[in-house]
Amino acid sequence: MRILSGVRPTGKPHIGNYIGALRNWKRLQDEGHECFYFVADWHALTTSYDETDELKSYTRDVMRSFLACGLDPEKSTLFVQSAVKEHSELALLFSMIVPLSWLERVPTYKEMKQQLSEKDLSNAGFLLYPVLQAADILIYLAQGVPVGEDQVYHVELTREIARRFNFLYGEVFPEPQSLLSVVPKLPGTDGRKMSKSYGNIVPLENNYSEVEKKILPMMTDPARKRKTDPGDPQKCPVWSYHIAFGIDEQDSQWVIEGCTKAKIGCIDCKKLLLRNMRRELEPIWERYSKIDSDPHFVDDVITKGNEKARLIAQKTMQSVRDRMNLLF
Ligand code: SF4
Repeated sequence: MRILSGVRPTGKPHIGNYIGALRNWKRLQDEGHECFYFVADWHALTTSYDETDELKSYTRDVMRSFLACGLDPEKSTLFVQSAVKEHSELALLFSMIVPLSWLERVPTYKEMKQQLSEKDLSNAGFLLYPVLQAADILIYLAQGVPVGEDQVYHVELTREIARRFNFLYGEVFPEPQSLLSVVPKLPGTDGRKMSKSYGNIVPLENNYSEVEKKILPMMTDPARKRKTDPGDPQKCPVWSYHIAFGIDEQDSQWVIEGCTKAKIGCIDCKKLLLRNMRRELEPIWERYSKIDSDPHFVDDVITKGNEKARLIAQKTMQSVRDRMNLLF
């Protein structure tokens, strides 16, 4: 299956990006799918159009995180959205055939406007970002899009746009499917949504001692003020981390029993989590060091990936222009 997905470079990648997306992307790559993974820098501009000072460095950081998480440029096409200008051309052409009402009813449009109420999001790019997203997906004729639950509607909209284009001009695009990630979103260390602005993230490129500094003081079930107070793992963000980092059956029982019967302390519980996190994250930290030992490596990967992506995007655009009877 041809698969496509992207990450917006709005900050340094954190373990929530790894658990929610990159780990799954690597699995899809290793299962032999034809994967296209990109840094969605134009998408970052839809909400952060006035904060571009660090855009270049965040773009490279996201690509570094792709590589550190085991995405392999020999197996997957890893590229940066703004290097393949054909995405913008296709988005413009789609904008001619997409009714405004389709965009106004996108649930994340209103939600994000409310969540980011301190920002002026009356820009056209923000309303149009599902159209750009449809272009990102369809330009590679992707069949599968790994997404979280909040993005399923966007893939549905992409299918509608593909159908409308195919109906108006003739068959060019397949209708992609959502590949729903079963992993719930990892909360921040204070139990709220993981977000740079809350200061509750655990950066992916941290080493063990930095992770320890974030995890040991992490919020727990507020009922457990003392070790003798019983708690409930379901009310504790540490539990979500245990699940995300693959706690086994026996340790699960130990945590559930120890927590609900006040037999273990939260520090014991977090130490177990830290062991599991270390086991999973250590290869990533090692890859980070290896990547950083060659100052040209990331840019070389980007250049080659951009070329590979561009060839396919150009081919699709040729068919699109032909079908739409554009002279050029
Ligand atoms: S024992 Fe573990 S699951 Fe229970 S409240 Fe403490 S950290 Fe959370």
